[in-house]
Amino acid sequence: MKQSILQIVLDTPLDSSFDYRWQASDDSEPLPRVGQLVQLSFARREVVGMIVGLSDESDVPADKLKNVQAVRHQLPPLSVQWLALCRFAADYYQRPLGEVALPGLPKNLRALKPVALDRGLKKLQQTEAVHDATPIDVARLNPAQQQAADAIAGARGFAPTLLYGVTGSGKTEVYLQAAAQILAHDEGGAENQSQILILVPEINLTPQLEGNIRARFPGVMVATLHSGLAEGERMRHWLAAHLGQARIILGTRLAVLASLPHLKLIVIDEEHDPSYKQQEGLRYSARDLAVWRAHQLSIPIVLGSATPSLETWHHAQSGRYKKLELRERAVKDAVLPKVRRIDMERDKPSEGLTSMLVSALKQRLEHGEQSLLFLNRRGYAPVIACDACGWVSNCTRCTSFMVLHKPEHRLRCHHCSLELRIPKSCPTCGNVDLQPLGRGTQRLEEGLKVMFPEARVLRIDADSTRRKGSAQIAFDSVHNGEVDILIGTQMVAKGHDFKNLTLVGILNPDTALFSHDYRASERLFAQLMQVAGRAGRAAQKEGGSPSEVLIQTRYPQHPLYAAVIAHDYDHFASSLLEEREQACLPPYIYQALLRAEAKELETAIEFLQQAAHCIEHAGITIHDPIPMTMTRVANVDRAQLLIECPSRPGLQAFLTDWMAQLRQIKTRAKWSLEVDPVDI
Ligand code: ADP
Ligand code: ZN
Ligand code: ZN
Repeated sequence: MKQSILQIVLDTPLDSSFDYRWQASDDSEPLPRVGQLVQLSFARREVVGMIVGLSDESDVPADKLKNVQAVRHQLPPLSVQWLALCRFAADYYQRPLGEVALPGLPKNLRALKPVALDRGLKKLQQTEAVHDATPIDVARLNPAQQQAADAIAGARGFAPTLLYGVTGSGKTEVYLQAAAQILAHDEGGAENQSQILILVPEINLTPQLEGNIRARFPGVMVATLHSGLAEGERMRHWLAAHLGQARIILGTRLAVLASLPHLKLIVIDEEHDPSYKQQEGLRYSARDLAVWRAHQLSIPIVLGSATPSLETWHHAQSGRYKKLELRERAVKDAVLPKVRRIDMERDKPSEGLTSMLVSALKQRLEHGEQSLLFLNRRGYAPVIACDACGWVSNCTRCTSFMVLHKPEHRLRCHHCSLELRIPKSCPTCGNVDLQPLGRGTQRLEEGLKVMFPEARVLRIDADSTRRKGSAQIAFDSVHNGEVDILIGTQMVAKGHDFKNLTLVGILNPDTALFSHDYRASERLFAQLMQVAGRAGRAAQKEGGSPSEVLIQTRYPQHPLYAAVIAHDYDHFASSLLEEREQACLPPYIYQALLRAEAKELETAIEFLQQAAHCIEHAGITIHDPIPMTMTRVANVDRAQLLIECPSRPGLQAFLTDWMAQLRQIKTRAKWSLEVDPVDI
């Protein structure tokens, strides 16, 4: 009888693989292969694991070795390269391999009762593959775009490229035409067809792109991978990618871990976007993993942005990444908007709006053009307060305020989701005159409707788009010209191509200028450039207003605003990099953050103190444990410990040893380690 020892990983926090025996049930049963799923019993439970190695022997005594129950043959095994990617991610982020490899697969596939695959697949072919949309007119690339597309499609081997192009410069067009060139060069049978992975920050906010891709590549199967898919859908798309049928895979960060046997090009659109960082569980950077994957497979990768992350910019400056530049907007006669500051000390706002911004809005209304007011704070007011006794609406469970949501008649905590009715009077002194302090999008909307009763005002934020599909309806109504003034949070800042929008007003960006987070100004700059980039995406109409961005600020002299006005990312980025170098901050140093949380802060701090002292290591700086800025969330106190090292391998070696020690510490605190943290 054929038999073998299988090394198997499971989705458990236990950091190792487990040996099991496999015995053929009869002679016809094929040998198990690495990358296949198996069903077995572990700790008296039936679970599904993955084979990561085969062997003739085991350190486990023969009488202790258990047999696997079944090997699943219906799927082609996950490839060795895919497993290597998971192993890299697991090692780099200090997690067990099983916790990376298994959750990356669709639930239906790793369920105890696997679904019948044939019927799944047929449905996908019907809905996704045979796509007979009429091909659309493809824009003729301008010379800069053409050069970029040719360079990308013509690159051989590992070729990381920064596509640095101003908002509206037609980066998408470049990716798609480079993709088209690569797909057009495919020869031979179906098994050799190239796959192209396109990562975007959020799919739900950019349905235009998906439609565009499908129309552009009729007959080519396009798979989408993001967390908004229902399980069945997710499995079909994942399978289409795994089986090599889908040739274009459009996805959010999680798609970086998809199985793509014929991957030939990776595109990361808006590579600077914070949503490429997973903030729980395996806290990975999809951008960094994508670069590793491209290197592993020796294929080109394109990172596109108008405001690249400083990490990427640093690589481009040092020549590690090639830099391609698009300096102008692609649409004929569309120009970057003129950006101006409004000094709020001189032009005092009423209802949150300075007189200059109000007259700019009036002008757009008269010309039948659209305006966008960007206020990155949802709700009516961030807090309500009692003038008489000083009471404020603190959340009882978090170090934060309860936000007033007036249309919903609620106070809401944005951190723990606690909801309360709005108190009729002050809970401490009974005063009935409670005041909202500050302004969120709901309050701005209310004020605008009074100020411009004839205007069609629409607010788009997480509250107004809770129902599935409602964001799409809202954005459609803007595109269809049913909206005069759009109010929005960061949801409206990215990607949208509003053709009739000529004014962007930016309210209250100042708080980020003085944040303790050293990345705050990099982020603010990117956000302002993004939202400013919504204006003037079409040529100025005859008799129409020029495109314009107005920033209301109390600090008009701040150099960040000067850089935004000059659309000058180059100098701004260079000066930020200089600051980072002097202050020994990333990308000039490598960091890891150990977080701990417990019912009492002392428990968390105590754990971190023990962690800080458990090993000595040359070249590693271990900072003091400190409570997190927002210490308490949902009745749990949180603290953190920062580790720094000037060398990445040095940090990695330390972390591996350290993790082994940390697992020995007895504590009631829950803890987790994050490598390359972005929120410190
Ligand atoms: P980016 O991603 O760089 O912000 P987009 O890809 O959204 O820019 O392109 C902005 C607009 O320019 C889109 O409406 C797109 O259709 C258009 N566009 C892109 N390339 C061209 C071109 N070569 N000629 C005309 N219009 C173009
Ligand atoms: Zn009071
Ligand atoms: Zn709370």
